[in-house]
Formats: sequence, structure tokens, C-alpha cells
Amino acid sequence: MKIYNTLTGRKEEFVPIQDHKVSMYVCGPTVYNLIHIGNARPMIVFDTVRRYFEYCGYEVNYVSNFTDVDDKIIKKAQEEHTTADVISTRYIAECKRDMAGMNVCPATTHPLATQEIGGMIDMISTLIEKGYAYAKNGTVYYRTAKFKDYGKLSKKNLEDLEAGHRSIKVAGEDEKEDPLDFVLWKPMKEGEPFWDSPWGRGRPGWHIECSVMSKHYLGDTIDIHAGGEDLVFPHHENEIAQSEAANGVPFAHYWMHNAFLNIVNEETHVAEKMSKSLGNFFTVRDISEKYDLQVLRFFMLSAHYRSPLNFSAELMEAAKNGLDRILTAFETLRRKAEAASEGDSAKNAAENAKASGRGAGREAEAKDAKGVSEKPVLTETDSRTEELTAEEKKLIEGTAPFVRKFEEAMDDDFNTADAIAALFELVKYGNVAMESGTHRAFYEALEGCMQKLCDVLGIVTERREEILDSEIEELIAERTQARKAKNFARADEIRKELLDRGIELKDTREGVVWKRI
Ligand code: AMP
Ligand code: ZN
Repeated sequence: MKIYNTLTGRKEEFVPIQDHKVSMYVCGPTVYNLIHIGNARPMIVFDTVRRYFEYCGYEVNYVSNFTDVDDKIIKKAQEEHTTADVISTRYIAECKRDMAGMNVCPATTHPLATQEIGGMIDMISTLIEKGYAYAKNGTVYYRTAKFKDYGKLSKKNLEDLEAGHRSIKVAGEDEKEDPLDFVLWKPMKEGEPFWDSPWGRGRPGWHIECSVMSKHYLGDTIDIHAGGEDLVFPHHENEIAQSEAANGVPFAHYWMHNAFLNIVNEETHVAEKMSKSLGNFFTVRDISEKYDLQVLRFFMLSAHYRSPLNFSAELMEAAKNGLDRILTAFETLRRKAEAASEGDSAKNAAENAKASGRGAGREAEAKDAKGVSEKPVLTETDSRTEELTAEEKKLIEGTAPFVRKFEEAMDDDFNTADAIAALFELVKYGNVAMESGTHRAFYEALEGCMQKLCDVLGIVTERREEILDSEIEELIAERTQARKAKNFARADEIRKELLDRGIELKDTREGVVWKRI
């Protein structure tokens, strides 16, 4: 398996630190608002990387943090006259709801920065002892010039950076020994959350959080560190400087970065990074009002993760249609499997005989694929294989080249675009092959083969009866009205209807909260 490593600028063979294990840290969101679909890109991409490792037999320790103390969170708390804790707790819950909708697996650990302050104070102390950091009036800075490898990830040259900094003098930087030094600990301001430390009350800088959480849950050296490409500099460069200076060993063997999700500016027609600050974003929640979120997932995976991707309504429709083709194939296979109980095999055979007359071309496709069958999908130990006809066995073995193509694409730096193309080919092949079968085990083997690949991409293959967020909200509003009008029968009916469709309601003091179950 090859991975493009930002550190070396090359695709490299993946060699794990420990056999059959992968340790992976993915920088998570700052939780002060609903996440937008740009934030969703690294979540979906690296969840798929994790799933493929698991498919290949690795045990993955996947850590992804929530940054729950930050200027933006504090600002939001002040606006709402509440605490930073209330804001971050709310948006972590919302983020997890979005992740579940996109079928992003929960991390092995989701650490919170505010729970790791002790470790941050320890690492900062070590950096001071080793001469890599210094305190000035309650602020601790990292001494960038002391770390010889500074710039190795972002390929930035220290002198160029210095020159750039001299021209834009930032207020309050006079205390620093060097303009490139960055903050490890900052003193508290009135009304802000704080922790006691050897340098006075205050809170950590953003970069130290990830160095410490990665060390705590994964150790001093990890296999993969990942995030969006905007994190390469300064965030990841600074993480390397902190971790390697403090721990004395390499921080991460592979650095992976996803390209941006962009959106075309309607006035200038130029694609721009989707971001909160530009105000050109859709939240995941916005999308969930129009689409099942797995359409969003499928759309994201339709491009290679290192290619910029432009969001558009047309591409979302194309993703929806593509996904629909896959789900239809599953539905048909399951229907046929159901019908293929012993007594029905004859019926299936008759149906298939009728169907085969419909398209000679399709039959030809199946024959081509049969010719290149390699890795057997069926195993001798599967007792039900015995009942299959020779043709069914051959058809099932004919799926192997598509699976191999899928794996080759994924082995090539997780090329999900090509992997999806291979999955479509398999679906097309399966649609033809299923017309020549009669046995339940045959349909199930075909289904199992397609299912394996869908699992890697995180596609749920049961067609979810579409109930969009907007429809749920409408029903909740109707229920609230019904209750006000003392029409409890209708209110209960709505609760039951939603429950039947997999939505659970909870009445809280803040209003009605719902979740998919
Ligand atoms: P933030 O909350 O801004 O720190 O972002 C959380 C994660 O989302 C980081 O890995 C960012 O690099 C990533 N990210 C933010 N905006 C985009 C975007 N438009 N496209 C791709 N990744 C993004
Ligand atoms: Zn980070």
C-alpha cells in the first residue's frame, strides 16, 4: 500500500511501526458552531482510510480531538451570555450527530483539549528545561530557531519566513525573541476560562494540544498524522517542532493532507475554499435537509482526497444517481435471494431465461469478465457452495478482477475515485450475472462481494427510507401545535410515526430533541 507523505513529497510504501497495527491522529474541529461540509471532507476521507486499513487486516487506533477551548468558542459564549463549556458541549453533540449521518465511525478516542491540560503543562515544562521554550510575563513561547528541522514539513525556509514577518509587524510581538516564535501558553484575560500553571493562570495555545493528545493516546512516534492541507503550516509544522524537541524521537512517519472543498464564487466565477470566514459555506445540517448524508459522503469520495473538489448541486445530483444504481443492485439481489428458496429456484430460472432474451450485449459483457477470473471468491469450506451450478461458481469467481481493481486503486494512495469506478464495474457485472443464477447462496455470494467494497467506502447498502431533517422538523412542529391544542392523540401519533421511521424524540426543557436510532 502506498501513501503520499507530505513530509517527503513522495508516495511511499506503508510500513507500520507495529505489525498489523496503525496509529493515526486526525486533527478535529474547533467546536463553536455546526460543522460545514469543508470540515466534513477530512472526516469522510480519513474515516475511509481507516476502513481500508481495517479491510486489509490492520487494527487501527484512531484518535481525533475536539478543540474545546479557543478564542472563537469564548466569543460565542460571550455573545450567548453563557460559558465556553456550554458552547463546546453543545457543538460536540451536534458534530457527532453529523458524523453518524455521514457514517463516519466514532474514533477509538475523541479527546477534549480541556481534559488534557496537565499533559500540556508537562510538555511545556520539558520544552523550557531543554531550552526550546521561554516564559515572558505569563506567556510561554516556543524558541523556533533552536529547532533545526523547523520548516521540514511545509518546505519553508526559516530566513524567508523571518523576512516575511519583519514586514508585517504584529502588535504585542515585542516580547518574542524572534518573530517566528509561537505561543505555547497564554495568560488569562478577564472572563475567560483558565487553568493554574507554573507561569500563572492561563490557557494553552492551539498547537500544543495536538502534540499532547497524540502522545497521550498513541505514544511518542505514530504512524500517520492527518488533517486538511491548511494545517500543514503553521499547525503541523509547530506540532513537529514541539513533539520532536520534547520527546527526542520522530513524531509521525506519514503526514497526510486532504485538499480543499471549494465552491465557485457566483460573481467572480473563481473557485474558493469553503470556509466560515468567507461565509461561502453549507453546513452538513443544511445538506441533510435535502439529501441523505450518505450522498454527501459518496460525493466526497468521488474525487481523490488530494485533488481540490468543487461543490455543486449538479455533482450532488450525480452522486445521488450513482449511489442509487448501487443500492438498486443490492435490492434486486436481495429480492432474488429471498425468492430463491428451494421451491422458487425453478421460478427464478424461468424468470432469468426470459430476462436473458432482453440483451445479448449484456451477456457478452459477462463472458468477457468470466474470462479473466482469478482469485476465487468462494471457498471450499463454504458448504453451500456445493449446491451451486458450475456456471454460478464461475460467475462468482468472475468478480475477482473488479475486487482486485478496487484494491489496486485503494493501495495507490487511497484513490477512491478509481475505486468507485471499479465498484460501478462490479455492479454492472453483477446486474448481468444475477440473471443467470438460481440459488440463494449464489445471490448472497454476489451481494457479499459488493458489500465488502461498500463497507470500505462507508456506504450503507440498505436503502434508508428517506426521512430528511426538514420533514422531521415539520412533524415536530406539528406535534408541538397539537399538544398546545390539547390534541394529545395526534401528538402521540406523530411520536409513534417518527419512532417507526427510526427517529426518537425527547422532550427537554430547551425543547424537543431528536435522534436517529
Ligand atoms: P477547523 O475547525 O477550521 O480547524 O477545521 C477542521 C478540519 O477541517 C481541518 O482539518 C481543516 O483543514 C479542515 N477544513 C476546513 N475547511 C476545509 C475545506 N474547505 N476543505 C477541506 N478541508 C477543510
Ligand atoms: Zn491538530
